[in-house]
Amino acid sequence: MRNQTDLDRRAGSTVRPLALNVVAGGAGFIGSHLCRALLDRGESVLCLDNLQTARPSNLRALEGQPRFRFLRHDISHPLPPELLRLAPRITRVWNLACPASPPLYQRDPEHTMLTNVLGTNHLLRLAETAKARFLLTSTSEVYGDPEIHPQAEDYRGHVSCTGPRACYDEGKRAAETLAFDYARAGRAAVRVARIFNTYGPNMDPNDGRVVSNLICQALRGDELTVYGDGSQTRSFCYVSDMVAGLMALMEADIEGTQPVNLGNPAEMTVNELLGHVVALTGTRAPVVHRPLPTDDPRRRRPDISRARALLDWAPQVPLAQGLEATCAWFAAELAAEPAAAGAAG
Ligand code: NAD
Ligand code: UDP
Repeated sequence: MRNQTDLDRRAGSTVRPLALNVVAGGAGFIGSHLCRALLDRGESVLCLDNLQTARPSNLRALEGQPRFRFLRHDISHPLPPELLRLAPRITRVWNLACPASPPLYQRDPEHTMLTNVLGTNHLLRLAETAKARFLLTSTSEVYGDPEIHPQAEDYRGHVSCTGPRACYDEGKRAAETLAFDYARAGRAAVRVARIFNTYGPNMDPNDGRVVSNLICQALRGDELTVYGDGSQTRSFCYVSDMVAGLMALMEADIEGTQPVNLGNPAEMTVNELLGHVVALTGTRAPVVHRPLPTDDPRRRRPDISRARALLDWAPQVPLAQGLEATCAWFAAELAAEPAAAGAAG
């Protein structure tokens, strides 16, 4: 049996100019930034996406790039032969394919679970065949509604396996299990990132997450929706920091089977986030309270000691700066909406 270090050596730890990256979910929010960063580094990218929660404009912006190719495919189905034929060239397999927004991953829970379990297995097999390194984007949701605060990687979590979030939370936990079983069996060199709430340009304005909702509501003059009393906390990481963390993790030499938290430890309540958005946009729209979704975690903050130690990584973009950039991007997107609709009509 080969060990993880041997596999890492074969998969190569330096960036190769002809490296072919398979990025599943590359037309989504984080995936589109990752594809761009890999292309900017001079590598080739094959984006695999079923476009379920992708923004078409994310893809359009990438499609003109040299060394970028798109293949429409649902990873819960067996991978297409044309992809398998490219295996000798593939050096990195990135699995970001999965809706991240609670309303969207709950829309078809069976498919969310299968995306995480079957889809991850298909991509792990591809990495095994290609002798490529594999990275899974897991989530802070593996900690569920946490009883330990902040959350470090050795915390095993407090997750409902029967509730409406379980398709995602348990799907990601099963995906981690699969990835580390491949690693233990010497079948693939794997990396697992546990991503905490991330925001920034290229988010879908209508995907229902709190940052996109509040900013778009403020810019449109709509009611600002706070679920519950707004005292629940999250810790928000700007997307450029997240992509830097993912890339550092993929290239890092990591012994054994260790997931790594990636996120910004600056924790705040939803009400505090709302205050920042109101101050930034100057909106006078009213705040309306909606019921807190079932199993909505009460608080969440990453312990990023492991990422600091292994990757020498920590977020660089403060919330005020990240929110301003995100707000400016959404303002341009929303301004283009009627024109785009008119042109389409
Ligand atoms: P996103 O919804 O914007 O992007 C996901 C992409 O995956 C979309 O382009 C979608 O079309 C594609 N996809 C979904 N199911 C697929 C399938 N079966 N086959 C092929 N493509 C499929 O989400 P995101 O915010 O960019 O998240 C990317 C990854 O990071 C996800 O795996 C998510 O679970 C993880 N993550 C994100 C966050 C966050 O705050 N953004 C937090 C924790 C974990
Ligand atoms: N939330 C909110 N208003 C919204 C959307 C979400 O108050 O319009 C809350 C949600 O209940 C949760 C937090 O904001 O407590 C973060 O929600 P999001 O869907 O962005 O991500 P989650 O961390 O729940 O996956």
